[in-house]
Amino acid sequence: MGSPRVSHRPQARRRILCVFPRYAPSFGTFQHGYALIPGVRAFMPPQGLLVIAAYLPKEWEVRFIDENIRLPSEADYRWADAVLMSGMHIQRPRIQRINEAAHRHGKLTVLGGPSVSASPECYPDVDVLHLGELGDATDALIEFLDRETARPAGQRVFATAERLGLEEFPIPAYGLIDMRRYMLASIQFSSGCPYRCEFCDIPALYGRRPRLKSAPRILAELDAIRAAGAQGAVYFVDDNFIGNPKATRELLPHIIQWQRDRGYPLSFACEATLNIAQWSDILEQMRTAKFHSIFCGIETPEPEGLQFMHKEQNLRQPLIDAVRKINGYGMELVAGIILGLDTDTRQTVDRVLAFIDESKIPMLTINLLYALPKTPLYDRLRAEHRLTEDTTRVSNIVFRMPYAEVVSMWQRCIAEAYDPLRLFERFAHQTEVTFPHRLSAPLNPTPEQLLRGLNILSRVMWSVGVCADYRGTFWRLAGPLLRAGRIEEIINMGVIARHLIRFTREALAGRGEACFYAEQGADVLAP
Ligand code: SF4
Repeated sequence: MGSPRVSHRPQARRRILCVFPRYAPSFGTFQHGYALIPGVRAFMPPQGLLVIAAYLPKEWEVRFIDENIRLPSEADYRWADAVLMSGMHIQRPRIQRINEAAHRHGKLTVLGGPSVSASPECYPDVDVLHLGELGDATDALIEFLDRETARPAGQRVFATAERLGLEEFPIPAYGLIDMRRYMLASIQFSSGCPYRCEFCDIPALYGRRPRLKSAPRILAELDAIRAAGAQGAVYFVDDNFIGNPKATRELLPHIIQWQRDRGYPLSFACEATLNIAQWSDILEQMRTAKFHSIFCGIETPEPEGLQFMHKEQNLRQPLIDAVRKINGYGMELVAGIILGLDTDTRQTVDRVLAFIDESKIPMLTINLLYALPKTPLYDRLRAEHRLTEDTTRVSNIVFRMPYAEVVSMWQRCIAEAYDPLRLFERFAHQTEVTFPHRLSAPLNPTPEQLLRGLNILSRVMWSVGVCADYRGTFWRLAGPLLRAGRIEEIINMGVIARHLIRFTREALAGRGEACFYAEQGADVLAP
């Protein structure tokens, strides 16, 4: 289990430099929280590129650089025979910079991952493209690199026709990274999603029938993640953790037993559709496995908007009821909200803010709609001549409402949602209705963990409790929690609040992105 399938026996010795491009700050990446956690420099390890690194022939030397932690040096480029990259659309400017740097050193470049798989035409300057998931194209690419690493005269393209089963993927090469530099560890159980939300590229890229890993395989990965030094939370990066609810039901008892046998060393988070609230048995299993949060794409509180985007799964019960139900199993809901929908009106922001106030969800990623290639939305808007290449805009969509009005709706929405008073009111609600329902697993911290916890607490106290201009609001909630010994809640709240409030202020000052997928934002931070 976990060993690469590569049948090709390499003839040459190769040095492969894997570089994961830096991403722009966003609501969901917690940049402003890192300073509070000793050693942390980035959000999550790049799963996809680590899997590719593990799949390469064992005879080859592999160096792995995540630009979110450090940039590659001249010496790194000089060392390499070939430079492998992967990334999402948001990372496109950085991908191009890495490509240019590698070419300046005369090195062959290879690009795989979701962005190039959806839009190969965006990368004419990369030497070799790997399209699709791990599979026959990866084997062909390895054979190619074994034969030659000189830059080809024309671009070479390897496209996966036969995908490798998820179970056959190697365990990501955690040995090549320092797990303690990441805020969260990550793991993948399934790939693909059965739904058809209009704006989403997952069904086209990864299929509508979720492919799965077995429970023993997931447990082996959890062991590997732990052995690599993960402490705290592990995020299931599946597009939809309940894409196949039967499989989720079968997996969870194994995770519960794994946790029990090891004294509950980890907690979990995942992404799932909101209709998870229909399945009390799954929610109870997740509670017992120590899941602490779920990201759900709420998108909009307006039913006509959900219908229009084909997100009917959010309409199966009132949104607020679904949120309450999930909270009742000790899980905080993190919500995705989109503005700029065709169904939006001048009243939409009031409705979004009313939903935020009523649902008491502390953390929401509030973004403008962006049309990703390979989505039904992209095809529809192209047919309607409503796609724009205007790079002064943060979305590629010609909205139904005037652009400036949509942006100002977004600004008002984040300003009010992340006003410290409103944010801490929502946190306070969570301390009453959500956190008390969490599993009270025995805590047996090692002296090292205890010291780390105290270090984080003291940083939160100083940064948020002393230096922040909203410290009074913080203490009104943190004071009683401190007296009750609810330290973990204070830490989580402090880290999240610092990021959300700072990111909002930067965004309102014009230094943040209104649209997670916008490419130009990634370059704002370039050196
Ligand atoms: S439920 Fe989520 S992953 Fe599935 S199609 Fe909709 S947005 Fe995409």
